[in-house]
Amino acid sequence: MSHQFSRRDFMAASGGIGLASVFSGMAPMILSASEATVDGKPAILGGTPLNQGAYSHWPIVEDEIEASLLEVLKSGNWFRGDSRLHRADQFEKEYAEMNKSKHCIAVNSGTSALIASLAALEIGPGDEVITSPYTFIATINSVLYHYAMPVPVDVDLESFQIDAKAADKACSANTRCLLPVHIGGSPADLDAFLEIAKRRDLPLVEDACQAHFGRWRGKNLGTLGTTGCFSMQVTKNLSCGDGGAILTDDDNLAEKIYKCHNNCRGRSSDSFDFTYGASRAMNQRMTEFQATVLLGQMKAVEGYAETRQENAMYLNGLLAEIPGVIPAKLYDGTTRSAWHLYMFRIDKEQFGLDRGQFIDALRAERIPCSSGYGAVDWIDFARKTYASQAASRIYPKKVFDDLAERVGTLPNFKRLCGEAVWFTQNMMLGPKSNMDIIADAIRRIQKNAADIAKA
Ligand SMILES: *Cc1c(COP(=O)(O)O)cnc(C)c1O
Repeated sequence: MSHQFSRRDFMAASGGIGLASVFSGMAPMILSASEATVDGKPAILGGTPLNQGAYSHWPIVEDEIEASLLEVLKSGNWFRGDSRLHRADQFEKEYAEMNKSKHCIAVNSGTSALIASLAALEIGPGDEVITSPYTFIATINSVLYHYAMPVPVDVDLESFQIDAKAADKACSANTRCLLPVHIGGSPADLDAFLEIAKRRDLPLVEDACQAHFGRWRGKNLGTLGTTGCFSMQVTKNLSCGDGGAILTDDDNLAEKIYKCHNNCRGRSSDSFDFTYGASRAMNQRMTEFQATVLLGQMKAVEGYAETRQENAMYLNGLLAEIPGVIPAKLYDGTTRSAWHLYMFRIDKEQFGLDRGQFIDALRAERIPCSSGYGAVDWIDFARKTYASQAASRIYPKKVFDDLAERVGTLPNFKRLCGEAVWFTQNMMLGPKSNMDIIADAIRRIQKNAADIAKA
């Protein structure tokens, strides 16, 4: 079991001493002061990388998980439908309580959470669903799965979130659902979306797959809309490899979602109910194994959420002083971001390097980072998805042409895809000094921008 990265290791690591070796598996290096500072030569030009192993294994194996998982394994209670251990039931209860939501339905992925939500809301062929283009493909696929039409609207360049005004403007007589995404785990403008949903009498489904325990005006993300959909895929802030959950306060909808995810079988009924409504059902159940891995993290998650918030806000302060580095803005109603991603933009003119050069230089400093989502043309993607003869009966060519014209060219989305840089949530765990390393590396790169650009 020596390959595991446990909570004990994590606590030792984040204490500071021995951090380099625990996090990276390499021996800590002793650096001379000049090498290890902002003033040293950038790593991309042959200098010593500023990061000597500060970040960060994920997932963290909490101590609580192992024995509990073995109990499930040895007992044969693997299936929630007849388990005497009731692990999926217990997870639903605890997750609902932690989020102050009335109901939780555990599912096998975030994609399933979205599909089951839309199924229970009876979203289907011809219906339009307003959503953000700046998202993981699963958001779009969950709409296409129902033969409904995703309507991507532009993003707010400052927050990276779906632009609420653009969403309102894009509504048509066919609009049946609002599907904002809390991208990076930071809230979309929920005041605006709740107002639009109310005024237009539309259900509001929050794609909170990245937003575990983020908060809007003190309430947890995923609990303000009609439903909130979460992912527990391995990179997410709460993970069991693959898994998901739906939160809702609506009793009827909760039962309907349960049936949708359980082949028409309700939570309490012994029999199958074929008469619950106009939506389809399948098997999207969570296993007792997945639920057990999640339950073992419940004590730790709040602490991690706080650590991410403290580190990210501290990093915001450090990066604000560097010209051309523009962190994503949080809306006023944000009480806490989940910081699934720490996102910022690089302004080439102000910084002195373009985004690609910046990323290469930062990676050379051994700071892991990525350029994030690409500027996919989702209407063209929908057109190709619906290219079959059957689908083209619902959506003739003209539908896509009209939609493309209505939605427009999404200039902010395209610009964002060309300028964004992401850090992952696990980099926001650990000591504050990890944030200083990031800022120092970026400052070092900027000081030498002209030389790096020439090289
Ligand atoms: C991860 C993710 C999903 C899908 O979740 P899976 O568990 O991978 O199916 C959907 N939307 C967003 C924004 C995500 O980040």
